[in-house]
Amino acid sequence: MTDHAVIIAGGGPSGLMLAGELALAGVDVAIVERRPSQDVAGSRAGGLHARTLEVFDQRGIADRFLAEGKKAQAIGFAGVHFDLSGFPTRHPYSLGLRQNHIERILAGWVDELEVPIYRGIVVTGFAQDDTGADVELSDGRSLRAQYLVGCDGGRSLVRKAAGIAFPGSDPTTSNLIAEAELAETPPQWGIRRDALGIHALGRVEYEIRNGEIVYADHGPVGVLVTEQHVGQTAEPTLSDLSAALIAVYGTDYGIHSPTSISRFTDAARQAASYRKGRALLAGDAAHVHPPDGGQGLQTGVQDAVNLGWKLAQVVKGMSPDSLLDTYHAERHPIGAHVLRNTMASIVLRREDERTKALRDMMAELLGMDEPRRRFAAMMSGLDIHYDLGEGHPLLGRRMPDLDLVTESGPLRVFSLLHAARPVLLNLGEPGAFDILPWADRVELVEAKYAGPWELPALGTVTAPTAVLVRPDGYVAWVGDPTQPGLTDALTTWFGPPPAA
Ligand SMILES: Cc1cc2nc3c(=O)[nH]c(=O)nc-3n(C[C@H](O)[C@H](O)[C@H](O)COP(=O)(O)OP(=O)(O)OC[C@H]3O[C@@H](n4cnc5c(N)ncnc54)[C@H](O)[C@@H]3O)c2cc1C
Repeated sequence: MTDHAVIIAGGGPSGLMLAGELALAGVDVAIVERRPSQDVAGSRAGGLHARTLEVFDQRGIADRFLAEGKKAQAIGFAGVHFDLSGFPTRHPYSLGLRQNHIERILAGWVDELEVPIYRGIVVTGFAQDDTGADVELSDGRSLRAQYLVGCDGGRSLVRKAAGIAFPGSDPTTSNLIAEAELAETPPQWGIRRDALGIHALGRVEYEIRNGEIVYADHGPVGVLVTEQHVGQTAEPTLSDLSAALIAVYGTDYGIHSPTSISRFTDAARQAASYRKGRALLAGDAAHVHPPDGGQGLQTGVQDAVNLGWKLAQVVKGMSPDSLLDTYHAERHPIGAHVLRNTMASIVLRREDERTKALRDMMAELLGMDEPRRRFAAMMSGLDIHYDLGEGHPLLGRRMPDLDLVTESGPLRVFSLLHAARPVLLNLGEPGAFDILPWADRVELVEAKYAGPWELPALGTVTAPTAVLVRPDGYVAWVGDPTQPGLTDALTTWFGPPPAA
């Protein structure tokens, strides 16, 4: 007997998203979270990029974030900003919204889905066997689950206890990030770069006016300062912060009353495997990298959306356990790409003459249409392509949110994904497909679409007759009724048909 089918260690953005996905699929899932409340101490993510907004839109919850955030063109690489305005997505922008708000909204959704959260409790260890895992908790209890997912951040206990290696590169820079009061007003707000690295001072409260960030003129101050030395392991203190400010600005501006001080580095590490038996990893537990490009939270949420439906099908006995291996196969390369671009960003941040020359040349390259579109698609997550073999360019890519016409009226593709169920979308001759054996799990939708098929970075592609869309919004098969492969794709992704 299990206490829950799935236990998630950690209720940050990745854990919350995964819990929502599993709950939508009707799986008994619970979160164990160290923090007594959802409050996030200090500054972390500052917003959502286009693909993450699309992912939320696929579940019908994008409006909750849009109602609170501020739209901005906030994607960039190597100091070059990209404008997504012409991109073929319903969300051609980023959304400025701090992580504490993102988590609050996600937690509200998970609460509506009635996922239990064991708050103020830490997962202290686990032991797995052939049928499940016994998860030890800090209150002395042990919970049994079929699967345990570590969404427990960069220092993941689950990853360590599972014996999953975390190879990568050691830090070369160390930064302090804090929120505090300043007794004196700095002569200049904003970003400062020098040979040591990047530093910034700005009011915590801000508005976006005409796409530009406008900081409040009073209130607490957000501080980012590069430290002179790498390798400090103790928790940072106010005197560390003060010393780091003096080293850079010549003064600490009378900094006092910090509400948070934390340290982050440019270490870049990735779990060698996202799965070991009945333990899986998602989010920062699976990959850590510098915050350049604001990709950590996005990648974690999207890990969760890739894993959720697969884990649900396995738990419900619809698909074999081997479906879970596709989670590592698909998401590990995506994480590796994020590590790669953040490591490149770090190098390009340096202020010496040679790096400046390289940055200028990158800027020249990124001024060209094709490289600019490709990098903008990469940094916004819209270029994600899972390797599902040769075929139509849509295969393994995100299904665009097209405006369809059906017998019962207009319909957006993403609205078909709200319940996190797969869809076979027939845009050709009505009634040409028979997927009766999968009728309990795959929705067949007959529709018409006369507009263009345009993919970010790739441009226009040939209009398909039919597409099989997975619950995560990626296309699993493209074809027409005469083409083979649909039965295989249905079986691979959604399990063999139930025995008659
Ligand atoms: C300065 C900074 C700026 C950033 N800016 C951006 C940005 O602009 N955009 C972006 O996308 N990302 C950004 N990030 C990264 C982003 O904050 C993380 O990638 C994101 O929080 C990862 O989410 P997660 O749920 O995987 O892990 P976490 O947010 O770390 O959540 C892990 C959760 O697990 C809990 N936990 C840990 N161990 C246990 C345990 N043993 N038992 C129970 N609970 C446990 C923790 O309390 C926590 O709630 C930034 C990070 C930093 C440091």
